[in-house]
Amino acid sequence: MNPQTRFTERLRLHQTASGQTLADLQIPDQVAGTGVDFVQGWVTGIDADAQTVRIDDAYTLRYDNLIYALGSVADTETVPGVDEFAYTLNSAHDATLLADIWTDSPTAPSSWQAADSPASSPRPRSPSSIPNSTSCC
Ligand SMILES: Cc1cc2nc3c(=O)[nH]c(=O)nc-3n(C[C@H](O)[C@H](O)[C@H](O)COP(=O)(O)OP(=O)(O)OC[C@H]3O[C@@H](n4cnc5c(N)ncnc54)[C@H](O)[C@@H]3O)c2cc1C
Repeated sequence: MNPQTRFTERLRLHQTASGQTLADLQIPDQVAGTGVDFVQGWVTGIDADAQTVRIDDAYTLRYDNLIYALGSVADTETVPGVDEFAYTLNSAHDATLLADIWTDSPTAPSSWQAADSPASSPRPRSPSSIPNSTSCC
């Protein structure tokens, strides 16, 4: 179960942020022939008593054993200014936003390019459509 078919190599997101292109690892291809079925969707609920997970608030899947491994995202809410000024490497999209800055992309705000520190102007915001799981470090 995953919201997108592409596997995000989180430990390589710094490479994405530095403008490198990572291998396009497709989860359905990775599990093909292993007996594992891939389901694309966002888990919106778990009923441990019924042993079901709710997918996209649309349907449920039953399980015998559930591996709950939703990862983590950086907490940008607790410390004032972080959400406004800091980048994260939570997702490939976030890493690409950072790459746009480092590579002096035309999409980067000019104030960033002229500043001594990238933190002197608010960063572009991630679209809220990027799903996140629990927050952490
Ligand atoms: C830049 C960076 C560098 C790193 N470098 C290293 C390193 O060198 N060595 C190391 O050991 N670790 C490193 N890490 C940490 C490592 O990437 C993580 O510890 C590891 O990815 C955690 O694996 P996970 O499967 O628990 O979570 P994740 O890899 O985050 O996977 C969780 C998955 O669950 C999905 N998901 C979340 N919520 C839902 C939902 N509601 N429904 C469906 N799917 C959902 C997400 O889309 C994601 O695909 C690094 C992390 C980062 C960000």
